[in-house]
Amino acid sequence: MRSLAAVAREPGKPFSLEYVNLPEPGDDEILVEVAATGLCHTDVACRDGLLPVSRPIILGHEGAGVVVSVGSQVKKVQPGDHVVLIWYSCGTCRNCQEGNPSYCSGWFNYNFVVDPKGRQTASDSNGNPVHIGFFGQSSLSQYSLVHERSVVKVRKDVPLRLLGPLACGVLTGAGSVIHGVRAHVGSTIAIFGAGSVGLSCVLGAAVAGCTEIIVVSRTEARLETAKTFGATHVINPKKCEDVRQAVREIVPRGVDYAIDTSAAEGVIRQAASVLRPRGTLGLIGARDPLSDLQINYEQIMGQGLVVRGLVEGDCVPEYFIPEMIDLYLQGRFPFDKMLSFYPFESINEAIADQLSGKVIKPVLELRGEEHK
Ligand code: ZN
Repeated sequence: MRSLAAVAREPGKPFSLEYVNLPEPGDDEILVEVAATGLCHTDVACRDGLLPVSRPIILGHEGAGVVVSVGSQVKKVQPGDHVVLIWYSCGTCRNCQEGNPSYCSGWFNYNFVVDPKGRQTASDSNGNPVHIGFFGQSSLSQYSLVHERSVVKVRKDVPLRLLGPLACGVLTGAGSVIHGVRAHVGSTIAIFGAGSVGLSCVLGAAVAGCTEIIVVSRTEARLETAKTFGATHVINPKKCEDVRQAVREIVPRGVDYAIDTSAAEGVIRQAASVLRPRGTLGLIGARDPLSDLQINYEQIMGQGLVVRGLVEGDCVPEYFIPEMIDLYLQGRFPFDKMLSFYPFESINEAIADQLSGKVIKPVLELRGEEHK
């Protein structure tokens, strides 16, 4: 299948839009025509070599589209079905079997395509290999070849162009609150950072029934968005000398949950400082995996804190993505307010707007009007 794709060739260079040839679907694979794909900082970090991937590669990991054809063993979907594409997990390791696919034992290599031995590749116009399978999908491409485990079938009465970000950014934020730390009705939460993941934490906290939802961000416009998503209080550290004190003026005993989306060490320590004894610190931000983190020992041990790393919202996407769509259609989960749409050809402009903070979550549209 010939497909227009955004190929990452050299670190730090813009994507090149070029035609590639995808291999024939195997027995357990599905060919999907991609309607739209959200852009995430991880795509840019991989393009620029800050995270490891084999090159050249088609990136993109927030795709949604329509099933074109299925292999002979595929039972989950049929041509014409609407699907959201998700990262790959093996389904057979202990963590997968226990319902924690984002901690699949092979997660990192499957999804970042670090060791491409034995994997299928696409080919460019010169017949040279182009790696695919990034987050199970490589969906910065008109067509995507995915394993059966990388599709979630979704209802058809919601515009497909909206749904890709549910696969990663929104799932990560909302899932971390609902399924990760399992915030309960009447609990209190402070969320540090108001990018697409932080704002999705707010959506999750609102659905979970948190009574105090405090958002800390240096960007005033994002704090305004946070309020419309259900934040009860916002704090801008540029206007506030002591964030810990400001949170404690709202919840004197400290909050039950503090979620950091920034991965900045000072912010993580600040997040730990606003917790009540036996509170939970959730860590979502992307950071050099080899880096260390210093938090005061007495603070963790003496206060009985729980520190939780959270990957991809600690959820089972098969269930959580359709649930988020139902909530959206009920008007209780307005994640679409974060999205800004661009034609596929404008991918490099979309990235520039994302990096400058002009938009929260750019989404690239790959398919014609009639399919939206
Ligand atoms: Zn697994």
